[in-house]
Amino acid sequence: MSKELTLEMVGYWASLDTDDEGPPGLPDPRGLVGRCGIVESRQLAKYLESGVVIRSYMGSAACRICGADVGNKELTDGRWAWPSGLAHYVREHHVPLPEGLMAAANGDGPPRPSGLEARFEKPQIVASGVAIGRPAGWEGLRVSFEAWFEWAAQAIPAQPAADAVTTEEAIEVADALSHDRASFNLEDAYGRWRVVGRVHGRRVRFYLERSSSDALRERLLRIRPPDPDNLLSMDAANEIAGRHKFPDREVRVLAAHEQAGLWLVWVKPDGAEWPDDAISAHGNMQPGFEASHPDGSRSRMCAMQDALSWEHMLTHEIGRAEPQGFGARLGAILAKQAGKPVQTCG
Ligand SMILES: [Zn+2]
Repeated sequence: MSKELTLEMVGYWASLDTDDEGPPGLPDPRGLVGRCGIVESRQLAKYLESGVVIRSYMGSAACRICGADVGNKELTDGRWAWPSGLAHYVREHHVPLPEGLMAAANGDGPPRPSGLEARFEKPQIVASGVAIGRPAGWEGLRVSFEAWFEWAAQAIPAQPAADAVTTEEAIEVADALSHDRASFNLEDAYGRWRVVGRVHGRRVRFYLERSSSDALRERLLRIRPPDPDNLLSMDAANEIAGRHKFPDREVRVLAAHEQAGLWLVWVKPDGAEWPDDAISAHGNMQPGFEASHPDGSRSRMCAMQDALSWEHMLTHEIGRAEPQGFGARLGAILAKQAGKPVQTCG
């Protein structure tokens, strides 16, 4: 089979208990429950289970509807790709899926590309949100969520927040977050806001429920890289970090490498001391490298931030995560911002 392959990702859902993580625009499955017939559900679930495994995660996902453990793999038929748990949503909750995939399950789709099993003989492994290596089968592979987002925005009734601002106000919020490396154009569609833009030169297109300005800003900041023309000085970053009241820890930028655009961010539990020589204590100046220290502190080389992205990181990543989970969560967001995988140690 040709190396170039684009997979349409389907069956990825928003996290329902914490509405502040993951990429924005993932749909809520609850609006789809009971909308697929019993016979079709069975057939569709069987088809989903027959896919070829392309990726395997450490740790498994829970069903957003009933909490059941729904597995940790991603599968494909060569055109669509889905998490292994999607079969559960279909079989147990009768959730329908995009027409093209329903047709494939019904035997009306294009034939499965030959050599699919051989190509993905070695699935990609993902731990703490970070892909470990890139197996040969992933060369030339592109994944797209656009068809999924488009279908879900039309299939699931919109649920605007009671305090939603007008579209004009929402456009102002999106404009204020746009810069050279990130642009967000927002318009009305299907009772929601359609966001079309570019992040790190890559096109993004997804839908958001109408919401307050703050909620909209928070969702866009999850994928917005810092504005390179407005990066904070170390002093300014520490002034902002000092104003944040964390219940059990403090956060400081202890060193900056202006040319590389990197900060050494230090998170220490209350009672621990700041290090005398943070750079030696951290030990590795690679972007994304994280170290755990015996006193419970953690340190990480991270991209320099502007005021908005730093506030967001402090509030939604560093501020909420338990110290033990800090690495995984910050690692995921930094990998996203840097546009490449990050290493974690400790
Ligand atoms: Zn379930």
